Amino acid sequence: MRAVKRRRLVEAVERYQTVLVWCLFALFAAICSPQTAHAASPEPKRVMILHSFGQDFRPWAEYARAIRAELIRQSPWPLDIHDHSLVTARSTDEDTEVPFVNYLMALGAKHPPDLIICVGAPAANFVQRQRDRLFPATPVVITAIEQRRVNFARLGENDTVVSVSHDFSASFANILRVLPETNKIIIVIGTSPNERFWLEEVRKEMPPFENRVEFSWTDKIPFEEFLRAASALPQHTVLFWGLMNVDAAGIVHEGGSALKRLHAVANAPIFSYDDGFFGDELVGGPMHSVAGGSRRTADVAVRILGGEKAGDIRLPPTRYAAAKFDWRQMQRWGISESSLPPDSQVYFREPSVWETYRWQVAMVCLVVLLQAVLISVLLYERRRRRFAEVEARRRMSELAHVNRYSTAGELTASIAHELNQPLGSILVNTETAALMLEQPSLNTKELKEILSDIRRDDQRAGEVIRRLRSLLMRTPFEAREIDLNEVITEALDLVSGLTHARDVTVESILPAEPLRVRGDRIQLQQVLLNLIINAADAMEHLGKSHRRMVVRAAQDRGFAEIEIVDNGPGILAANLSEVFEPLFTTKPNGMGMGLSIARTIVEAHDGQISAENRAGQGAAFRIRLPLAPSAGAAA
Ligand code: ADP
Repeated sequence: MRAVKRRRLVEAVERYQTVLVWCLFALFAAICSPQTAHAASPEPKRVMILHSFGQDFRPWAEYARAIRAELIRQSPWPLDIHDHSLVTARSTDEDTEVPFVNYLMALGAKHPPDLIICVGAPAANFVQRQRDRLFPATPVVITAIEQRRVNFARLGENDTVVSVSHDFSASFANILRVLPETNKIIIVIGTSPNERFWLEEVRKEMPPFENRVEFSWTDKIPFEEFLRAASALPQHTVLFWGLMNVDAAGIVHEGGSALKRLHAVANAPIFSYDDGFFGDELVGGPMHSVAGGSRRTADVAVRILGGEKAGDIRLPPTRYAAAKFDWRQMQRWGISESSLPPDSQVYFREPSVWETYRWQVAMVCLVVLLQAVLISVLLYERRRRRFAEVEARRRMSELAHVNRYSTAGELTASIAHELNQPLGSILVNTETAALMLEQPSLNTKELKEILSDIRRDDQRAGEVIRRLRSLLMRTPFEAREIDLNEVITEALDLVSGLTHARDVTVESILPAEPLRVRGDRIQLQQVLLNLIINAADAMEHLGKSHRRMVVRAAQDRGFAEIEIVDNGPGILAANLSEVFEPLFTTKPNGMGMGLSIARTIVEAHDGQISAENRAGQGAAFRIRLPLAPSAGAAA
């Protein structure tokens, strides 16, 4: 019984081992099978792109490039894209199509394409004509084509169309909107079958505009010839770029060179209907969008590659996208932004200086502003200072005037004395003359002498009064070239009465040549009077024989120097630095303004005034004034 059980157990284990081995084998086989390898790395989807004319004809080249990029971006599968160009579409010779079909079929014999995309009307027409022979089982997307160029009757269940709808009337209306003075539109178009078809279509839309605009077209003119004419087009002419694939001379124009060359020479703005041409040469307007059309095409292609039936996808043609304009062309042709249709986009706008150098401009403005503020403040300060200077000078003048009055007050006694003398003489002389007139024999000679004395005394008295009046005159500061010798002499004459009354001997030592300085005569005279009266005051308590004052003037290295030296007690050492301060006085009835005013006047003349005690006795006051330039030159 036990042996039976053991045998069954061994059999179960053996069965289990067999199942395990088979499972491992199956797993290994599954890993190595080609289907699994296929799932890990799927077959690429083969896409044949069929170009009209060639790979670099505008605007189709722009569409082909954008479709390719968008397809690669959207496709979840690896793609094997190969391009073929329908060179045969450049002419009407359809016989050459058959070998081309055979060539394509031979290429795809082993691996037929999963999808054919034909770009542009010529490619579409070719495919539709040859559809039965050209990979009939492969789906076809016809794109970058105007709906009028599609043979909808021949669309099979494997075919679909991503088309657009041209609206030339909208293009002409746009031209007249932005350039209302336009009176001539030239349609630039070639002569290939496709271009001839489109010329006829464009002409159908001209009549409503013919009352405003004269139309012409270039299909009969070789492009080179038209280029020559394009530089001298009449004013208010506009060029409408249709197509220029094959011109009247049979020359094929690849890429964008034709439009570029026309733009380089044309003296008229260029418009078009497709933004495949937009970017340098066109002014702009409502146009088909390459980006929009290519995105739609790639959407449809991916849906078909994913298994959707091409014939089930039926899309309406797209119309023009919102208008776009080239700012540079707008500037060139004087088109204002306000004349653009609403919702227009303006491209290539050159940034303004402000937009490019915002920070730099802001900084410069700030610096200029700060500078302007600083300059204004400085100018204001300067004006205030000038004003203050003028005001100070005016006050000083007034103060000096008051000071002169007080000086004149001090001089009253001596002036009265001075006047007394000539007046007394005049009286005596007139009495003598009266007596002589009573004499029987008139001594006319003596009488003449008496009259002459009277005149002299009168002049002397008049001179005293003139000097006093000029001292008391209120005159503004006036700098003139003056001779200091004269000023000193006149000042001494004015105080002569005072010095005489006080028994002060005055010695004046003046240079023989004039001492020329620039200054105000009255004010400088006032300075001298203050110093002379102070010197006389200082010697008041001396014995009469000791009252001696020296007034000395000389030239010293470009300066006129005047020294007034007295025999008085001098200035206390402690007061030396203060005597020029306003209101400093040691006199019982003094005002303490004389020296302060003297310093102000001397400094206003760019000079210096100083005081010192003499070694022996007395004080010495020294004034230094710059010599007038003419005096300096003479010296
Ligand atoms: P005031 O004559 O009214 O006092 P000043 O300004 O002319 O005012 O003079 C100020 C003071 O300077 C005088 O009070 C005097 O003390 C002193 N001072 C001026 N000149 C002399 C001088 N020659 N000798 C001595 N002291 C003088």
